[in-house]
Amino acid sequence: MADIVASLKQVLGAGAVLEREAVAERATSYWDQSPTRAKALVRPANTQEISAILALCHEYRQSVVTHGGRTTCVQGTQSRPDDIILSTERMNAIEEIDPIAGTAIIQAGAILETVQQAVQDKGLFLPLDLGARGSCTLGGNLATNAGGVNVLRYGMARSMVLGLETVLADGTIISSMNTMLKNNAGYDLKQLFIGTEGTLGVISRMVVRLMPLSTTTNTALVALADFAAVPDLLNHFRSQIGTTLSAFEVMWGDYVRAVTVPGAHRAPMDTGHEFYVLLECHGSDAGRDQERFMEVIEAAFENGLIVDAVLPKSESERQALWAIRDDFDAILRPKPVYLYDVSLPITKMQAYVAQVQEQLRASLSNAVLYALGHIGDGNLHFFVQAHTQDANARALADQAIYEPLQVVGGSVSAEHGIGFEKKTWLCQSRSAAEIALMQTLKKTLDPRNILNPGLVFDMGQ
Ligand SMILES: Cc1cc2nc3c(=O)[nH]c(=O)nc-3n(C[C@H](O)[C@H](O)[C@H](O)COP(=O)(O)OP(=O)(O)OC[C@H]3O[C@@H](n4cnc5c(N)ncnc54)[C@H](O)[C@@H]3O)c2cc1C
Repeated sequence: MADIVASLKQVLGAGAVLEREAVAERATSYWDQSPTRAKALVRPANTQEISAILALCHEYRQSVVTHGGRTTCVQGTQSRPDDIILSTERMNAIEEIDPIAGTAIIQAGAILETVQQAVQDKGLFLPLDLGARGSCTLGGNLATNAGGVNVLRYGMARSMVLGLETVLADGTIISSMNTMLKNNAGYDLKQLFIGTEGTLGVISRMVVRLMPLSTTTNTALVALADFAAVPDLLNHFRSQIGTTLSAFEVMWGDYVRAVTVPGAHRAPMDTGHEFYVLLECHGSDAGRDQERFMEVIEAAFENGLIVDAVLPKSESERQALWAIRDDFDAILRPKPVYLYDVSLPITKMQAYVAQVQEQLRASLSNAVLYALGHIGDGNLHFFVQAHTQDANARALADQAIYEPLQVVGGSVSAEHGIGFEKKTWLCQSRSAAEIALMQTLKKTLDPRNILNPGLVFDMGQ
């Protein structure tokens, strides 16, 4: 049998295939700057080329790792020297935006921020938004069922998809490019590929549902004296403002202090408070929304729910507030720093965080914990600065975070997925029967186990 790389070059043309040295010039991911290792990286230009690549890899029993924007937080794009990487970077077209139907047809490699802008230029809104918007791709967003800052109002990435085109491991193209809101004709096959981290197929194109563009945006950063006020403030806003509440991002005081040090972000208010919430409402009543937002903030002051507030006076001030939430570079040093993404009922969060802190103090005495999250969705993120080079530190931090989660019925992954990083913890959030069914689906759709092998779970015997 001929060499797989030579065969791929023959099918795609040499320009679409990068070999080892060229691949090594790319960083492994946003978080890991070490060189990417792989036999070759292929850059298909359309769905038919993805199909041809996978048909060949299936024939050769060749493992394939799919790359979007490589912003994965769970080592989802990690490759081995013998893998072929399939990058969607050349499939980045926005094929159609239909303002009447409120839909867009997009290729998998399109960058989220580019799509957001293009849609906005047509007076529409793509509700998916996350800190990695400048690098992540729509294909990666669907493969991971990304969450982000607008989930509270619009749901996860899954809820924005009407149709999907996917290529199976053997090269079969499954084109389910439905554009209708209602279509219950048989199984909703797209759900097999959304959130399954590229293990069941390669997403090539999609139909997404768009929303009307809001005409008003009201934002505030507010300070709270204790955690008990967090759910009360959320309920206050939900009952007073209703569905226009789009973001409710909580930051623990230590996190805000760490990212507002000199050389990082400017502190917009006193940073001595226990908790901060970044609130945002998107509406369409220019005459009334701002006034109502102010009334609800004032009522929150009067009820003792908040102790301080800052409202941006310009778009650049609004962006500066969001940068405090989104740009955490200041706490990524010194390394190692471990990132966590868990979910649990909001009523159990305070006790859970206290338990994590206690367990960390016991097992990693120098570690520092920073917490923030999309709390309205029950989603907490932690950064653990280990302050040690102990090779066992990561495992100890994992235990401190994940073990107390089991007691409160939380999930080891709220929105980032499992990847390679959380594989050993999957069984804490999913039963043996659930994992067995995942393995059955994998065996059926990818019988030679070539797509992202070893990701999420192992296949066993
Ligand atoms: C600063 C920052 C902030 C972030 N904030 C959030 C957040 O708020 N919410 C959130 O959910 N995530 C967040 N993330 C994580 C990450 O951005 C998301 O998981 C994102 O959806 C990944 O998209 P990507 O294109 O970078 O995919 P990649 O990282 O390239 O890939 C992710 C996984 O999907 C697979 N994959 C990629 N493309 C395809 C495809 N076309 N078909 C099949 N499989 C594919 C890959 O094999 C891999 O397993 C953040 C990351 C960073 C760096």
